[in-house]
Amino acid sequence: MSTIKQEAERCLRCKNAKCSANCPVKTQIPEVVDLFLNGNIKKAGEILFHNNPLSAVTSVICPHERNCTGHCIRGLKGEPVMFYRIEEFVSRFYLETMEIPKIEKNGIKIAVAGAGPAGITMSLLLLLHGYDVTMFEAQDNIGGILRYGIPPFRLSRDLLELYKDIMLRMGLHFRPNTRIGTNIMIDDLFPDGYKAVFVSTGTGRPNKLGLIGETLGHVHFAVDYLKSPKAFNLGQRVAVVGAGNVAIDAARTAIRRAHSHVTILHFMGEENVTANHEEVEMAQIEGVEFIHYAQAVRIMENAVRCVRVNRIEHEDGSVSFEEDYSDVFDVPTDSVIIAIGQGPGADMKAAGVKLTQRGLFDVNENGETNTPGVFAAGDIVSGPKTVVDAVAFTKRVFERMEEYLKNVTE
Ligand SMILES: Cc1cc2nc3c(=O)[nH]c(=O)nc-3n(C[C@H](O)[C@H](O)[C@H](O)COP(=O)(O)OP(=O)(O)OC[C@H]3O[C@@H](n4cnc5c(N)ncnc54)[C@H](O)[C@@H]3O)c2cc1C
Repeated sequence: MSTIKQEAERCLRCKNAKCSANCPVKTQIPEVVDLFLNGNIKKAGEILFHNNPLSAVTSVICPHERNCTGHCIRGLKGEPVMFYRIEEFVSRFYLETMEIPKIEKNGIKIAVAGAGPAGITMSLLLLLHGYDVTMFEAQDNIGGILRYGIPPFRLSRDLLELYKDIMLRMGLHFRPNTRIGTNIMIDDLFPDGYKAVFVSTGTGRPNKLGLIGETLGHVHFAVDYLKSPKAFNLGQRVAVVGAGNVAIDAARTAIRRAHSHVTILHFMGEENVTANHEEVEMAQIEGVEFIHYAQAVRIMENAVRCVRVNRIEHEDGSVSFEEDYSDVFDVPTDSVIIAIGQGPGADMKAAGVKLTQRGLFDVNENGETNTPGVFAAGDIVSGPKTVVDAVAFTKRVFERMEEYLKNVTE
């Protein structure tokens, strides 16, 4: 494998860089590579951090093949430049050596509900601009899915400690184990002097299959399992229903337990797997078995009953999938993990904020809700997406929030 420097030297530093154009936060890739090669990594890190405060995270877990790497011009005839390796190194170095700038406080209080990627991004932007930020988080630490979902073998937790330390040094007030919408309501915040509320509570509620057997003791939801895998006794044979990123993370976590055999049950074909290609590849290398065209129809004590699914190609080129109830088979298992998507929790229903049919926050293109002073971003707005998408939208919301705050505080 090439060194990071060799990787940087391969970058053509294109004038109209397609890698940057296809990055949701438009990372200044040629400029950063130039600075890196000229030994100015502090400046490179500063540019990355101010454009995307979570660059140390996204460089590790972004779906690079869809963004920068997938659009590298070098990839047309050979190997694309793996910019994310340079970005990871520079961003981490920057966080580790970061001196907290002297920031003039403006005394304006803002509440942030949810300490996931969107909440961290917003808090950092606010703190850097002198706001007085209080972050309310339902769990006992910051990170959201970065801590309570993505397995540590994919994202090291010490990175999150670095972020926490930086935010605390910048003056963040952190209220862990505090769920907005149960005891403290959004409406309670304004009388205490908060001028705006940013909601980034994500989509932590797992979707149900709606099958008989779903409440049995050996059945778990992937997002619950990934929060604290050690708390679960899965037995040796584990069936995971679903084939998205969350399913793969659950399968790869489960297979790390001694003697476990993990099978993914997927109702479509290999080409329809929505998880990142690399994650699927790694799961297969680790021994996760995939059964495609299998629709779970019932969960029993020792097996998942499935029916075979037929892939039908239509004359107009479209494809559909149809269950064949004459072809029934049982997949023996000691436990079942369900990973078929997530939605927003119920707490925010009481907020008086307009919600979409899916229960997500109904916001305009700048993240404003129908309640003045209440803004939102991240998965609670978009539904389950990616970290870099959460950062990109949060940045836009921050700009609008600043305009709003100028009007209400002058
Ligand atoms: C298992 C898994 C793997 C993933 N892998 C990737 C990946 O590899 N790459 C990628 O880019 N994306 C990945 N994603 C998606 C990505 O993690 C999300 O898009 C991103 O975390 C969304 O950020 P967020 O801040 O909106 O929400 P979250 O990360 O969900 O954070 C929301 C936070 O709000 C807190 N909260 C909830 N309700 C309340 C309340 N009422 N009051 C206070 N706090 C509250 C939660 O505890 C949580 O800390 C993955 C998702 C999952 C589930």
